[in-house]
Amino acid sequence: MTTFKDADAFGEFDVIRRFFHRQHFTPSDLNLAPAHAQDVLLGIGDDCALLSPPPSGEVFAITSDMLIEGRHFLKDVSPTLLGHKCLAVNLSDLAAMGAKPVAYNLSIALPEIHPTWLEQFSNGLHAIADHYHCQLLGGDTTAGPLSISITAIGHVLPQQALSRNRAQVGDDIWLSGDVGDARLVLGFRRGEWQLDIPWQEKSARMDAPIPRIELGLGLRGLAHAAIDVSDGLLGDLKHILEASKVGAKVWADDVPCSDLLKNVSTELRRLCTLRGGDDYELCFTAPQKNRALIKTLSENLHLPLTRIGEIVAHSEHSPIIELWDHDHNQLPEEITQHYLKSFDHFQSL
Ligand code: ADP
Ligand code: MG
Repeated sequence: MTTFKDADAFGEFDVIRRFFHRQHFTPSDLNLAPAHAQDVLLGIGDDCALLSPPPSGEVFAITSDMLIEGRHFLKDVSPTLLGHKCLAVNLSDLAAMGAKPVAYNLSIALPEIHPTWLEQFSNGLHAIADHYHCQLLGGDTTAGPLSISITAIGHVLPQQALSRNRAQVGDDIWLSGDVGDARLVLGFRRGEWQLDIPWQEKSARMDAPIPRIELGLGLRGLAHAAIDVSDGLLGDLKHILEASKVGAKVWADDVPCSDLLKNVSTELRRLCTLRGGDDYELCFTAPQKNRALIKTLSENLHLPLTRIGEIVAHSEHSPIIELWDHDHNQLPEEITQHYLKSFDHFQSL
């Protein structure tokens, strides 16, 4: 690791060159497939990057997410984990569209130039970027309160894109992995509840989410619509329902969760699984005839996929989501509404 004797003499362009510009590496150093390396014709260092068009018939899928200190992460967050998370949340959106990652842009405001912090941050960032073969194209670097904005770019065939408006009545509703641990840990850290269970091992669910890229790719042609669970399962599912003009029945107690959450009260478990966010699992809808193929995909990916409900017709006289418990009783409307309130930046100021 290079050390900087005089960090004060370190300017904007030194930061870009030292921590973000990696084009002196060969494609094999970067673990990029040769075909992928050709996507970026010109990367960091010019006025614009130049990107090849997607393969025949495919289109670009483009998404942005911004992370602000104090709102999305705490001041003392590990810079390595922050580097990972800021790209992971963007890749998660590509996954939810069934898109294959190609490249990303990074805009960052830094209160000061702190070489050790930047070294760790960029290590976390480059590690996940290399893992998913996603190359840094360019960006912007400025002084200011710590904030990070990433735009990620992928490819997908438009007819296979898992867009939110494609759910159909009769579809199964599926969820990958399990949800709720990120909210459980957040609540503990905020002092909302005490936990006498070993929650620390679950911190990674909040700090180092895994974007379900392979799942998104595997669902092409199998699923109709998908969303990544970032703000809360029911609230996120509602976006699919509204866009597709349908309703849903959800089996509240079948939503998969960790053993940790199985041992807390029903109320806390439902709060964390149904309303909690930051899990970055995929919630998707698929026709019933694809159940066997989805089970095979689950086995191949070593990733549990669980049916948690079904898409139903929706009229203005019925609630958009009905929640049902273990004993096949429908939960009262006000309880459903409570769990539907997912995270909203402007309502939680
Ligand atoms: P301009 O003034 O033309 O916008 P900049 O001086 O902002 O260019 O950036 C110089 C080059 O460095 C550009 O190619 C830009 O994309 C790249 N760049 C700037 N900041 C970053 C960053 N944080 N990560 C990656 N590339 C960056
Ligand atoms: Mg610029």
